[in-house]
This record gives sequence, structure tokens and C-alpha cells, in this order.
Amino acid sequence: MTSKLRVIPLGGLGEIGKNMMALEYDNDIVIVDCGVQFPEEGMFGVDLIIPDISYLMERLEKVRAILITHGHEDHIGALPFILPKLNCPVYAPRLAHGLITAKLKERRVARDSVVTPIDPGVIHQIGESFEVSWFRVCHSIPDAMGIAIGTPLGTVIHTGDFKIDHTPVDGRIFDLPTLAHYGDDGVLLLCSDSTYAEVPGYTTSEKVVGEALDRAIGEADGRVLVATFASLVSRVQQVVDAAVKHGRKVSLVGRSMVDTVAVATELGYLVAPPGVLVPLAETRKLPPEQVVLMTTGSQGEPTSALVRIAKGEHRDVSIMAGDTVVISATPIPGNELAVSHTINNLLRQKAKVLYDRIATVHVHGHASQEELKLVLRLVRPKYFVPVHGEFRHLTAHAQLAWDLELAKGGIFVMEDGDVLELDEHVGEMKERISAGPIYVDGLTTRDTQSPVLGQRRTLSKDGVVVVVVNKDKKSGNILGEPVAVASGFLDDSETGTLFDELSVAVAQALTKADTRSDGIEDLKAKVRESARSFLAGAARRSPMIIPVVLEI
Ligand SMILES: [Zn+2]
Repeated sequence: MTSKLRVIPLGGLGEIGKNMMALEYDNDIVIVDCGVQFPEEGMFGVDLIIPDISYLMERLEKVRAILITHGHEDHIGALPFILPKLNCPVYAPRLAHGLITAKLKERRVARDSVVTPIDPGVIHQIGESFEVSWFRVCHSIPDAMGIAIGTPLGTVIHTGDFKIDHTPVDGRIFDLPTLAHYGDDGVLLLCSDSTYAEVPGYTTSEKVVGEALDRAIGEADGRVLVATFASLVSRVQQVVDAAVKHGRKVSLVGRSMVDTVAVATELGYLVAPPGVLVPLAETRKLPPEQVVLMTTGSQGEPTSALVRIAKGEHRDVSIMAGDTVVISATPIPGNELAVSHTINNLLRQKAKVLYDRIATVHVHGHASQEELKLVLRLVRPKYFVPVHGEFRHLTAHAQLAWDLELAKGGIFVMEDGDVLELDEHVGEMKERISAGPIYVDGLTTRDTQSPVLGQRRTLSKDGVVVVVVNKDKKSGNILGEPVAVASGFLDDSETGTLFDELSVAVAQALTKADTRSDGIEDLKAKVRESARSFLAGAARRSPMIIPVVLEI
């Protein structure tokens, strides 16, 4: 009996972000990407979300390598947390390699594993089962690649994130001929990017954005501030090019922007003539019409440079009359409100603001329907798994393949934790495995069962009430009245009578109980329960209740 190939998405399917997929054959597992997701507002102190790797931890001896498609955070950001656990080699395109190395160093990740830079077209033997090579795609970061994974059952093509841009900023186009070759030889499984599978037509080329930025910078009377993702290296290049053309200097504001540009410049993915990139202090000596500032904060992130500038709270940069602010990004769903606040704040300070709704100052980096169809047609896989996207995006992509009458072996809409098992003849879904989100919270990680996160939610809703009861150590009798104090619950002026009644209610509950034989924990439980039930009735609120029993 021949072995089967197991396809196991651990992140990024059924959601946007924290992309990670495992392929398992016999004694070998390879992993494609290892990304993070950023928490939505109201996630109570969670810093980052990473994939659940318990399935891999149970099979550590089989894990051969992590293969990286490109240098975006949602594809490499979890490495500092996961690599020390898996301790396996990492293979990454050169720019991603540079960004990963900087990231591991910054996080002081001690590791034995090696991160190897790869070039497209070179075959790497991984374990006994896999022959892996990368091919060029276009995306919003240079050096983005898809991966062809040869298995004993046939080739698996994973596109990574991509779009088909015939005029990309770095001039490196999607390697469609190689993809077509794989298609001609026969492809077992295609995993293709679904992020924009709902959008008809073609994604606009980066070139259009370059022209819009050039116009904005050329026409501005004063300084130009451009906000974008730190990782959007192509956009930084476009701004640098426009600045050079119009006789301006560029300064970078914000740590992540400075770090990414340093890596990209060192590796030659960003080219700026000498003297164009200058420190912020130097721009103050220049007339405003010779200055471009690039900042992070295009998503309205609270601590980012642009948001602080918009609020007038940035240490080094404040808006001046005549400034033009270009927001070169589209708000990720969930960030719309924060971005809108930022635009309002900038307009209030009399800046001219250009953003996606009023100028083509941004295009995204993902393929629309016609590009997705082209890839499906070239590859003509036996099986198809749409990857990267919420369920609706995956479903839209599956529909495209269905309409094209491709992937006759099966189209599988999978979510994180689903398991697909396939061979040359048949593909079928197997029992799910655990793949919930893991929350990075300061120095620890927590899963969805973590009581701490539940407690933070309760605290943020109704606050906390502390009820203090004194107990006589010798007699075991309760001494005096219980006392309540609160934070984040109600105003002090509102709690006066309420807490008097609370004190009576708790005291009554304790008189009924035989407190003399009760241990401290039993007593606490009684205090908590009586206070909870009183406040639920009298205040229609469920604050967190902390009972304190003092033995004196
Ligand atoms: Zn990406």
C-alpha cells in the first residue's frame, strides 16, 4: 500500500493572517510559512496571535523544514515563537531571509536551527519525501515566491500571496512559464491565494500607484508625509523615486520602517541614490518643499507615528500648514474606524490628505478573479485547496475552479485544523486536529481556554468589586460588617447605599452559614456568591468579585 499525502492548514484558512500549512508524507513533514495575526481592538492586552502547533509538537521527529514564501509578518512573524520549539531548518527567499534574521536577533531567539537563503529554480531535497523549489510571483513586497513541492505522489504547488503584475516596481515579473511547465508535467494539488477571490477583473498594477505618488509629490507645495506598511518595500521605492525626481530628501519616521528599509537596502531590494535618505533632524534645516517623510500608521495603529502626528502628540513631527499627507494603504477590515479618525485629525490640522477613496495612492498585493483563473488554467491540478482567506474568500475561489471545470479530483474548502488525505486516486477529509489561536501576551502564550483573558473581558465590562470580611481567628466568628470597594464598576456617588445593602446581604448569607467550621476558601465562595447574586439583582451588573477574608 502506498502512503498518502496529508494536507493540514494550521493557520490562514477561514481567517486572514497567521498563515501556516503542514504537508505530511510518511516520516516527513514540511511546513509552508509561519505567520502572525494582529489582535483586533478589544482583545484585552493580547499582543499577537500565532498558530497552534500541538500537532507538530507531537510529531517533532518528523518535522523537516519550514519553507517561507515571502517576508510579510503574516508569513514569517511567528518564527521567533515557534522556531525554538520546532528547531528545524528554515528556507526563505533572500529578502525574507534578511528580515527573519533581523527579527530573530531583535527578539534574542537562541536557536540551533539554520535559516538558509534560497534562489528561485534551485531544488532542495527535504527529508526523504520532498523535493522543493521556489518560483517568482509578484506581490507587495519584493522577492515573493510560490513553492513547488515534489512528493512521491506528484507535485504540490503553493502560490503564497501573489498577484500578476506586468509592470512591478522591481521589474521582476511572475514566472508564468515555470508554472505552465509544472502544469504540463501534471500537478497533484494546487493551493492558491484567495484573499481577493471575490473581486472580478484584474488587480491594478503597482505602476499606477507610482504615477499617483509621483503626481502627489510633484504637485505638493510643502512637505509630503507618506504613510504605509513598513513591509511595503516596493512602495518605499516608489516614494524614493518620486522624491529624487522632484528634488526632495526622504526621512523615515518609526522604528519598523527604519529597520525594514535597512535590511532591504543592504540586500539591494531598495535602491536610493546617496544622500537621498536623511535623518529626521536634517529635514528641519530644509525648506518644506524639499522634504518627504515616510511613516508607519496607515492602519490607524494607536502607537504608530502617523496616529501620534495626527493627534499632535509626536515628539519630533507636527503638522504644518501646507503639508500633504498620503495614506498609501487600504484599511484592513476592522481598522476602518481608526483610519477614519486619523484622517479627520489630520484634516483638522489643515493638512491636505490623499487616501484610497480619493486617489489611486494604493493597490493591494493580491490577485483578482481573472488572475486566479489564469493560474488555475496553467496549473490544471487534480486537487484544489483555496488558501489564505476567510471562508467567504475560500468559497469564492472554489467556485472559480468549479466554473472552469478544473480540479476534477476534488475541490476542498478547508479551514484551520481540517485534514485532507490524498493519493493519485482519491482525496478525502479526515478527522480534524487542534488548531485554535494561541495568544501571545507579554512573555507568555495562552490558548482560548485561558481564564485570564475571560477575566479581562469581565473587568472591561463591569469592573471589579472587592468584598472584605473579617473573621476572629480564635472563635471563628465574623467580626463587624463586610466592606465593599470597587473599581470600574459605578461612580462612588452611586455605590453608597448600594454597598450598604450589599454589606447586609453578605452578612446575612454568612449568618446562615456555619462560618466557624468553614475554611477560608469556603468562606470566600460564600461571600462571592452572595455578592454576585445581590449585585445581579440590585444593580443589573456582573462585575468581577474578589472576596477577601482576613483572620484577626
Ligand atoms: Zn503577503
